[in-house]
Amino acid sequence: MTPTVQHELIASMQHSTAGWLLFDPRDRLAAANECGRAALGIGPDEHPTWEQMMRNCHQRRRGLMINTDDIDRWLVRVRRAYRRLPVRSFESDLTDGRWMWVTETTRPDGWVFVVLVDITPLKLNEATLRRARDDALIAAMTDPLTSLYNRRYIFRRLDDLLCTTQKMRIPLAVAMLDLDHFKRVNDVHGHAVGDGVLQHFAQQMRKHLRPLDAVGRIGGEEFLMLLPNADVTSALPVLERLRARLDDMQAPPPLPYTFSAGVAAALPGDGVADVVRRADDALYAAKTGGRNQLVVAACPA
Ligand code: GH3
Ligand code: MG
Ligand code: MG
Repeated sequence: MTPTVQHELIASMQHSTAGWLLFDPRDRLAAANECGRAALGIGPDEHPTWEQMMRNCHQRRRGLMINTDDIDRWLVRVRRAYRRLPVRSFESDLTDGRWMWVTETTRPDGWVFVVLVDITPLKLNEATLRRARDDALIAAMTDPLTSLYNRRYIFRRLDDLLCTTQKMRIPLAVAMLDLDHFKRVNDVHGHAVGDGVLQHFAQQMRKHLRPLDAVGRIGGEEFLMLLPNADVTSALPVLERLRARLDDMQAPPPLPYTFSAGVAAALPGDGVADVVRRADDALYAAKTGGRNQLVVAACPA
């Protein structure tokens, strides 16, 4: 490299938007460009040692974000990695909110060259993608009108629960619920009021369930409720309380309504279709028996 090229290289490095710092074998800052100094909170005429630089960042809350109450212990931990490898790369956040990709090159003679590249746009992009993925996952399992689980998810959950409860030999109660004369609600008051009733019912069900229970909307005004660790004798009062609550409400928003339910206990060897069929038969019995009531499925002989 000719002296001219060397000169131009150094001038370019000084102006580069990538930050760089050079530490001598005694770990004192020998040189750095403006971006490197800014990233590590080092003033133009300062030549701290690596350790002093870290202590300054911590004390002045400038440069590298160092979240610790005990900087000495932090330094011991970080020193385990610093200068241990010829090349080391990692990401680090700064107190100004930016993220840097840091590459430390340790030469055999003890000089350390640190390069910092601003990766904030990538991190923001990553956070946006992660949020979008989380939203999509939730949307894929949620019924948009009621925010309950959707049909696909609640059936999958039932399949999983049948497996685990049978393996662990704990009971599982399954209830099928259906609003009574819902067609009439729509016909008399309109579809929007019908939607309001569905949302209200969803809210009431959520209020009456334990955190480990799950409920999904499996059709227009049909719902599937899964109550693990509950047999029908303990599931019935939950549904009865829900039924009584709707009966008691003087002026429930948006208008009075009732539901019928069929409850079945999962039996050893049951698949999704078996237990759902029994709950559905019990629901049918509740409907033909006059509606606004709960029926427990008979155990198959
Ligand atoms: P039953 O007591 O026998 O269950 O009578 P029903 O009128 O509730 O039963 P049916 O199955 O005849 O009617 C269900 C109605 O649910 C028909 C449809 O208009 C209504 N429905 C389905 N999905 C929605 C929805 O998303 N919003 C509203 N508002 N209505 C819906
Ligand atoms: Mg109905
Ligand atoms: Mg129905």
